[in-house]
Amino acid sequence: FRFHFRGTGYDEKMVREMEGLEASGSTYICTLCDSTRAEASGNMVLHSITRSHQENLERYELWRTNPFSESADRLRDRVKGVSAKPFMETQPTLDALHCDIGNATEFYKIFQDEIGEMHARSEVPSREERRRWRAALDKQLRKKMKLKPVMRMNGNYARRLMTAEAAEAVCELVPSEERRQALRELVALYLQMKPVWRSTWPARECPDQLCRYSFNSQRFAELLSSTFKYRYDGKITNYLHKTLAHVPEIVERDGSIGAWASEGNESGNKLFRRFRKMNARQS
Ligand SMILES: [Zn+2]
Repeated sequence: FRFHFRGTGYDEKMVREMEGLEASGSTYICTLCDSTRAEASGNMVLHSITRSHQENLERYELWRTNPFSESADRLRDRVKGVSAKPFMETQPTLDALHCDIGNATEFYKIFQDEIGEMHARSEVPSREERRRWRAALDKQLRKKMKLKPVMRMNGNYARRLMTAEAAEAVCELVPSEERRQALRELVALYLQMKPVWRSTWPARECPDQLCRYSFNSQRFAELLSSTFKYRYDGKITNYLHKTLAHVPEIVERDGSIGAWASEGNESGNKLFRRFRKMNARQS
């Protein structure tokens, strides 16, 4: 009988800090593989997990000593964005809650772009136009889904936003039937994939979705790079990359992603705020 302690629930920002990687906006898009943003967008699905704490340490040594006297750019490419000393080993995985939050943040933007018919535009929309699309989306979600706009995406909002119902509500604001179909398909695929990183035991709880994950993620990627090309030409978000490229390998290795999700930490936020207040000087 043995206990295994496992640090979990880290978001990408914290993993990057602990493992000495550049910040989330880096060209080196992933904490699990060496892909650049452009490579990850050109090939959305086929990447294996290659990074490790040990390799990060070795790369940091190269970065620090520059043994081949290379230019800053060459050196940075050699060490794939390692730029500080890794000080704590993390599991090469992703946190299911932050995955949901990251992806919902992206879908919230896709919805606005679809309302504004970004696929048909060549010029960059003004701030005023963007503000209008967002206001229309917020109003519709409030009316149809009883979803109040939030300053920062959270787990509850993400869970409500990523539903077929919410997609239907958004579709009412999308003018073209063809675009509505594409948006419905994109959300439907996402909802087929989601249980795989949420379940405690996907092989038992959602075996069909697990089997179809690679197929679904492939189709999802095709949609992004064709119908939604205006957003994903040479670009992709960090969490979409992880979702499409790394989920099956992690589930195969660990049996689950959702079992270690950080919802528990989120519910602690209220307590943490109170404790902080209690310790502060009263003014
Ligand atoms: Zn990756």
